[in-house]
Amino acid sequence: MLILTCPYCGATAEETELQAGGEAHLKRFGPGSSDEEFHDYLFVRENPKGVHFERWRHTNGCGKWFHAARCTTSLEVFGTYPAQTTEPPQDIQDKISKKRPGWSWREFSCASAKDAS
Ligand SMILES: [Zn+2]
Repeated sequence: MLILTCPYCGATAEETELQAGGEAHLKRFGPGSSDEEFHDYLFVRENPKGVHFERWRHTNGCGKWFHAARCTTSLEVFGTYPAQTTEPPQDIQDKISKKRPGWSWREFSCASAKDAS
């Protein structure tokens, strides 16, 4: 069972009280972008085996969207934080780096997959 703490209201909720919203920190491409950039924005996702950043909504609570950093294999949660950020807070990145040596922001998918094999 996945348990997350909403960074807005502080409530600890299991995943049945939340709504998953897919991968966090996607770079949006709009008018003027190439077809490939728009395709990647719409369809390409990291889908890592390991550290993942996700969007969640506290549906049965305050209703706000937030981000969560967690491991897809162990369900370990590294932290949650407000959705109005372009990258994870430094304290969460430091926590992940401490537990997953060699991990770094935006190099997690290839690095974690290679390390795991
Ligand atoms: Zn909440």
